Amino acid sequence: MSESINTRTKCLKCGFETPGDTGDWAKVELPSLGSVTQCPECGSTNTTQLRR
Ligand SMILES: [Zn+2]
Repeated sequence: MSESINTRTKCLKCGFETPGDTGDWAKVELPSLGSVTQCPECGSTNTTQLRR
């Protein structure tokens, strides 16, 4: 299983970006959206997954 290597997480608010599963990103549960990724830098949940 190596699919996480080609996935990058990026914050759309501050531009913070990491490759794959680095463990820096927190998961938060929102009633309307379910599980979303939260930026460790600015706390925004406005993030995206970038696939190569
Ligand atoms: Zn951010």
